[in-house]
Amino acid sequence: MLPRERRNAPGFRARLPGSCWVACAALLLLAPLVHAQSYTTARLADGFDMPVGKPNGDGYYVYRGFSPNGHLGEDWNGKGGGNTDEGDPIYSIAHGVVVYSDDYRAGWGNVVIIRHAYRESNGQIAFIDSLYGHLKVRSVRLGQQVTRGQVIGTMGRGPRNMYSAHLHFEIRKDLRVGMHRSLYPRDFQTYHSPRHFMDQRRQLRFEDRLVRVPVNTFQKTNPNRITAEQIEMPELTSVSETVRPAVPEEVEAVIEEETTAEAAAPEKSKGLFDSFLKRLAAPQ
Ligand SMILES: [Zn+2]
Repeated sequence: MLPRERRNAPGFRARLPGSCWVACAALLLLAPLVHAQSYTTARLADGFDMPVGKPNGDGYYVYRGFSPNGHLGEDWNGKGGGNTDEGDPIYSIAHGVVVYSDDYRAGWGNVVIIRHAYRESNGQIAFIDSLYGHLKVRSVRLGQQVTRGQVIGTMGRGPRNMYSAHLHFEIRKDLRVGMHRSLYPRDFQTYHSPRHFMDQRRQLRFEDRLVRVPVNTFQKTNPNRITAEQIEMPELTSVSETVRPAVPEEVEAVIEEETTAEAAAPEKSKGLFDSFLKRLAAPQ
């Protein structure tokens, strides 16, 4: 409410309709921009498998589990120990669409995020993002449709080989997180405990249908925006469980270019202490 003097002031009544009209027109014009939500389509998930040793995670174990306000995902390792699992195929846990594929560098290295639509037990369609971190190579592109069990990259050691080889794997129920975990609660409001989630939904009722999936839901500062253009990618041949994936040469060239040590370490000159601080600030 305006103060009484102002409401009673001469001329106020005359000004009101004009200013209201301008404000209303501006709102009408801006509304589509503010509320616009873009969508793509994806196949409804018919179940969820493990991201390594498909479908059951054979040959792998969770070295470090999910803990709210602690480790926000699971670290999967090969049973062979050390770096014997480096380069092993990483699989999409379900049908979905790639909403992030980039080298995020500090602490993360190559990251792929896939968005999945599935039907909850109450009949509703729900969405999650699965995140695969520290990849050696990424073999999928932003906007690409992927199927359950499709190779999306290989197990790596993070930027500058800062870890021993493992997969950092997360499942988010909040589609806004992207690479900005610090903006959201670090607990079950935002995340699922991955194994628990997958164990509850290994086989879902098969429904051969496409559903609308919201995209571009990440924070605006996130550089990856899905465009409508089709991205040309050679199809990866399916691989057996033990064989490492044959990444097409063109893809390998791009990936190698994006994952050189220099590209991954713009802060190299700052020294060890700084990188140690950075790791403390963003534990993966
Ligand atoms: Zn981790």
